[in-house]
Amino acid sequence: MIRVGQGIDSHAFCSGDHLVLGGIEVPAKFGVRAHSDGDVILHALCDALLGAVGLRDIGFHFPDTDPCYRQVDSKSLLTMVYQKVMALGWKLGNADITVIAETPKLSPYIPAMCQRIAEILNCNSADISIKAKTAEKLGALGREEGIAVHAVVLVVQ
Ligand code: MG
Repeated sequence: MIRVGQGIDSHAFCSGDHLVLGGIEVPAKFGVRAHSDGDVILHALCDALLGAVGLRDIGFHFPDTDPCYRQVDSKSLLTMVYQKVMALGWKLGNADITVIAETPKLSPYIPAMCQRIAEILNCNSADISIKAKTAEKLGALGREEGIAVHAVVLVVQ
């Protein structure tokens, strides 16, 4: 048995000097406006995993109106999400993630992000793919107003 899931997340940039992406800190001209640590990669990945197993979405399980999730470490959200996935008898096959942002350049940080995610999901880092691209100056992302992520996962039983 296999199932597929997809997730999308986006956050607006605000003043700051780093982003938290894929569980690591990346130096940047901005921070992100967010209730949690604003890790768009892990949020999109959580939604993809939840979607694959029919467990709704990250906001359903961890509402941003709940003060206990203020400034929460998204690695702990992903850990809790994956526990729910495994409790239903599923495990990750692979994840393919695309980050869209004009800045910062993410290429040097991608191996560390894949490694961090693989540690959380107890898999091989080769099963985690992260691609980074710009929006070619188009729209809000192209004007450096924020960052967006699309994630697709395969889960296997
Ligand atoms: Mg988010």
